[in-house]
Amino acid sequence: MAPPLTHDQWLTILRAEGVTVAEYPGWRTRQRDDETGKPFGPVHMFVNHHTGGRDARDVVARDGVPGLPAPLAHVYLARSGVATMCSAGRANHAGLMAVNAYNSFLNEESSHPAPSAASGTVDGNDVAYGIETENRGDGTDVYPREQYDAWVRINAAVCRHHGWSAASVGCHKETSIEGKIDPRGPVEGYGDRGRFEFTPAQFRADVAERLTHPASWSPGSTTSPPKQEETGMDLNDRVLLGDWVPKAWPDDKGLADKQITINTALGGGYAYARRAAETTGALLTEVRALRAEVAQLRAAMTKGT
Ligand SMILES: [Zn+2]
Repeated sequence: MAPPLTHDQWLTILRAEGVTVAEYPGWRTRQRDDETGKPFGPVHMFVNHHTGGRDARDVVARDGVPGLPAPLAHVYLARSGVATMCSAGRANHAGLMAVNAYNSFLNEESSHPAPSAASGTVDGNDVAYGIETENRGDGTDVYPREQYDAWVRINAAVCRHHGWSAASVGCHKETSIEGKIDPRGPVEGYGDRGRFEFTPAQFRADVAERLTHPASWSPGSTTSPPKQEETGMDLNDRVLLGDWVPKAWPDDKGLADKQITINTALGGGYAYARRAAETTGALLTEVRALRAEVAQLRAAMTKGT
């Protein structure tokens, strides 16, 4: 049981997991809670979908389809691997779930029975996050490597945040009582693995593997990438200046050690550049005025001769 992720939490956990995130205009206010009068959450699982067509970002985030108003998912995942946030509220993606299947995810069981309407139904849109992954869904359209990688990362990020295992990750075809087939199709590759067929079991295994590593981990590598502190620079770090700087300003005591902080360099650079730009503008104005005067004088002299 968990309260739904806030808008800012979504962005934070996806970026921490190495996902490239875009924000669809209006996504912070777009949700189905108001229209239906039903609140979103508490949430208990993640449901994965394919779009069934290309370039469906606007449809999922803003337009919806007849009889099914947008948002149609919380996240839209393009073939490029870029994730677009569409909503953090209630979204129309899961429809009715079979209770027997839903309970197996709620309780994080190791196996998931085929959804049976006879077991009763639950409104999946109340209790599940959803992602629409761009794919024609015809069983032959390939999920590119970067798309599958981002897909695993997104599911893992949500599980990591809520403290869920990969057993909270499901697919639409595993929960729906309406005979859904998504997602399906070949995957170009993942980590050290070449082409393979998408299956919910393999997907959960990949999410589970990811959850054994820190969020910064990349598949196929046994070590984590170096931390930002080790490779990046701090604004208080000092950088060496070229010899020409103290030579140009020998009386500038601040440059005695031939070092400067990045902060000072950036601030100083901005101030000098701005001053230079303003001075140049003033000079140009004066030059134009002088040229006009010269032209007048020349005209007067020509008349005189
Ligand atoms: Zn679906």
